[in-house]
Amino acid sequence: MTTPRVLIIDDDELVAATLHAMAEAVGAEAHATSDSDSFFAALEQWQPTHILLDLNMPNLDGMEVIAELANRGVEAGIIVVSGVGRRVIDAAARTAAARGLRVVGALDKPFMIEDLELLLSSRDPLTVPLAPLPRSPRPTDFHVSASELERALAEEELFLVYQPKVECRTRTLAGFEALVRWRHPEHGLVMPDRFIPQAEECGLIDALTARVLELGLAWMADWDRVASGDGNSLRAASTLSLSVNLSARSLTSASLISELEARCARHGIPPARLILELTETATMADPVTSLDLLTRLRARGFRLAIDDFGTGFSSMVQLVRLPFSEIKVDKSFVMTAAASLESRKVIRSVVDLGHSLKLTTTAEGVEDEEVLSLLRELGCDLAQGYLESRPLEGEVAAAWALEHFRADEARRVAALRELAMLDTPPEPRIDRLTRLASRTCATPIALVTLVDAERQWFKSRRGIELAETPRDQAFCAHTILCEGLTVVPDAERDARFSDNVLVTGAPFLRFYAGAPLHARDGSRVGALCVADHAPRELSRSQLDTLLDIARQVERELNEQATAANAHGLLPRAAFEDSARGALALCRRVRIDATLMTLEFAPDSPMVDSDALTQLVEGALRGSDLVGELGPGRVGLILLSSAGAGASAVRHRLASRASAVDATLVGAIDVRISVSRAREPLDLELLFRGAAAAAPVRLGESAAVG
Ligand code: C2E
Ligand code: MG
Ligand code: MG
Repeated sequence: MTTPRVLIIDDDELVAATLHAMAEAVGAEAHATSDSDSFFAALEQWQPTHILLDLNMPNLDGMEVIAELANRGVEAGIIVVSGVGRRVIDAAARTAAARGLRVVGALDKPFMIEDLELLLSSRDPLTVPLAPLPRSPRPTDFHVSASELERALAEEELFLVYQPKVECRTRTLAGFEALVRWRHPEHGLVMPDRFIPQAEECGLIDALTARVLELGLAWMADWDRVASGDGNSLRAASTLSLSVNLSARSLTSASLISELEARCARHGIPPARLILELTETATMADPVTSLDLLTRLRARGFRLAIDDFGTGFSSMVQLVRLPFSEIKVDKSFVMTAAASLESRKVIRSVVDLGHSLKLTTTAEGVEDEEVLSLLRELGCDLAQGYLESRPLEGEVAAAWALEHFRADEARRVAALRELAMLDTPPEPRIDRLTRLASRTCATPIALVTLVDAERQWFKSRRGIELAETPRDQAFCAHTILCEGLTVVPDAERDARFSDNVLVTGAPFLRFYAGAPLHARDGSRVGALCVADHAPRELSRSQLDTLLDIARQVERELNEQATAANAHGLLPRAAFEDSARGALALCRRVRIDATLMTLEFAPDSPMVDSDALTQLVEGALRGSDLVGELGPGRVGLILLSSAGAGASAVRHRLASRASAVDATLVGAIDVRISVSRAREPLDLELLFRGAAAAAPVRLGESAAVG
């Protein structure tokens, strides 16, 4: 095979140089450029075999470069690179392929050098399925004339109402959807379905959308003023999203993206807070152009929701092809869910589909508690509907939200109190998870923090001297505001943190990634986080692992609070449940797991006595999980400690047992079953292994493990 010649374009010179070095390291010839002129000059002169193209460059539009490459009929293999997530990259790759370019693959930053090597050596172009986009019939009833609509726009008769979207699990406010209304001087209030189709038909939809965006963003921006009296509300308000309905017609507008960006910038609203909902009232005239446009929007940070899913043009094909971030189940299914099995089936399958594509799922038209609890069971993320609130006018909606924040916070603090964990001593099993987080993410700092009304308090800390900080300094106070990870690549460049004393002074934090920790009722009571003194990134798999470890910390916190029996042991079912979670984590981070079972001789005096409690307190608390398997049988799970860890526990147990009661050491049999990191790791296998292992009397000095 001839040596690949890789032409790199990235407007960040440092990134370009890094990609250059990586390409050379895998044996390719490389040439890096950071502006489009020199890129296209090199393309002509240097004739690369491959082009490495970064999608999100602040000063250059990757999709525009793709369009120009297509115009020139370039034959080099295209590799799309980006840090914005796999689905966006895939959509970009599909757009490029649809334009006739040869796309050999896509890389999600930060990627491994082997991935690049593989793509450069592969001769097969990526096979990209390109199904045609289905079309929908256009509604036909128009009652409103174009000139009247024009007047309505000019006279500012259109206004917005805002309907809250809440988390199904906790009913925490997540954002608002803006819905347009027309206050007609003669006909009174006119609903959107009476004039949106008309606006689309007579070419006024872009003007209408512009008006809606302007009103909605100005309303959001006003939040700073409304919520500024209360730090917690202000923070919460700053995470709320605004959903705006976009007619598919508008997707043909060439200036849509730049206008959206300019508008957001003018109001100081980050694109990620704006969700564009695609309505189905117009056909998608040009599938390739829409795909291209939607991909660009996502690359620029805007979120996209597919509205009224289950009706009209939206279909599986649509969903998988386009880079949506949210899917909204149509209200016709949700409103009938209590009565109709069919509707429930549809909702379930949409929710499952959404989750398998890593989309936020929203149900609209939630009118009663019964449906909300059904949605909770199905795992639907967000709910919107009359149950929570009808659409409200701006000021009312703002006041409603403030009230809601206070109620959310009160519920959250109550859930934290229930945990009874604040100001308790450190615990080895939680410390071990913190250590695991810091090791997995290769960060010096890892913390388990609980956030109450005034402060964040560290239940477990590594790499930091502080025991607590005021809440308004806490990065984690932001993490607990919404689901999912909060990542701050460089705190000095983030307006929320750049003048935080933890950034400007010791411990000089620059990088932060945190996952919320939930109490049983779903309240976000704290966070597992990692931090570093220099700006950086984490790979997708490190981020996923962080979330997994957070789930495990959550189990520990919640189980300790409530599930333990009189001896401080978990009952069998809870033990098995936690053990499965722990083993899943071991599998992911490739560490060993050990199951140790203790069997007390039937005539042993201590099974129901305080002695067991003393043993557990003195010798077993440090294990990752301790549970009661049956009468006289105790099980322990140890993570990351095949052999050595198990014998340490055994020795500790032996010395503790002889201190408690000299006869005990002769009355306990220990069986050990170890699963090495790379073996299939499964609780049943471990149990079988332990059952088959020869028992060792606790008092015997034989080596164990
Ligand atoms: P949509 O985007 O699906 O909005 C949800 C509709 O469901 C809203 O109707 C809302 O008032 C209604 N709704 C919400 N919860 C419930 C509930 O619990 N029960 C019932 N029965 N209805 C509920 P609305 O405001 O009449 O809007 C209708 C449609 O008009 C919207 O459907 C959207 O497609 C379109 N629309 C609204 N505003 C705009 C806009 O600014 N631009 C564009 N292009 N379309 C808009
Ligand atoms: Mg909508
Ligand atoms: Mg809808």
